[in-house]
Amino acid sequence: MDAALRYADENFDRFTDELDELLRIPSVSTDSAFAEHVQEAAEWLADHFDAAGVEHTEVVETDGHPIVYAEHHAGDDKPTVLVYGHYDVQPPDPLEEWDSDPFEPTRRNGTIYARGACDDKGQMFMHPKAAEAYLQAEGELPVNLKFVIEGEEETGSVHLAPFIENNAHKLDADVVLIRETAMFAPCVPSNTYGLRGLADTEVTVQGPNRDLHSGIYGGAVDNPIHALSDILSNLKDDNGRVAMPGF
Ligand SMILES: [Zn+2]
Repeated sequence: MDAALRYADENFDRFTDELDELLRIPSVSTDSAFAEHVQEAAEWLADHFDAAGVEHTEVVETDGHPIVYAEHHAGDDKPTVLVYGHYDVQPPDPLEEWDSDPFEPTRRNGTIYARGACDDKGQMFMHPKAAEAYLQAEGELPVNLKFVIEGEEETGSVHLAPFIENNAHKLDADVVLIRETAMFAPCVPSNTYGLRGLADTEVTVQGPNRDLHSGIYGGAVDNPIHALSDILSNLKDDNGRVAMPGF
């Protein structure tokens, strides 16, 4: 690992210059006006995996934005790590809130300011760079690597699920590393081992179709607002655990 770390140190400036190149591509997936830039980012990334020495890279077209898939087989006896990340970014609006151009990376106090710098281009990019450092300095990787870098995370990953379903065998791995997370603190690299998720549902509570006289009906007929409040307050117990049966 020493040689790989030395290589990473020696090439630090080039690595960050390359990250700047990626940050300059406005790969906004939520706005079709940027579609060609999303494509451009995918191709840039694929070329980049190639240049790093990763043995197989492809830009997989979907009905939406492409998925960059790359893999490097280091040995049958080695574990396989699947790295997930995304190369698309949120829209930069409102522009007047920015102190510098969102697509011209700027350094202030040791921090890079650009759209996507920390979601998710920066985190994602360290993995091809780590692979490069190993491959160029040590000649081989300590693990087998597979990369799935999508371009639709900010639009709900619509085409990721079918890609996974259609490539279940190809994506087979011992560990999945989701590089879409934060560091615990500056200079404290962190691996997040648990993430929350979300589920949404629509609940309709139906009540009387007209105002009911409180003297006659009050207390006997539930107000839908109270029924709904009851439902909401019972979703979690006092310890914050989801209390829904079957959850
Ligand atoms: Zn993200």
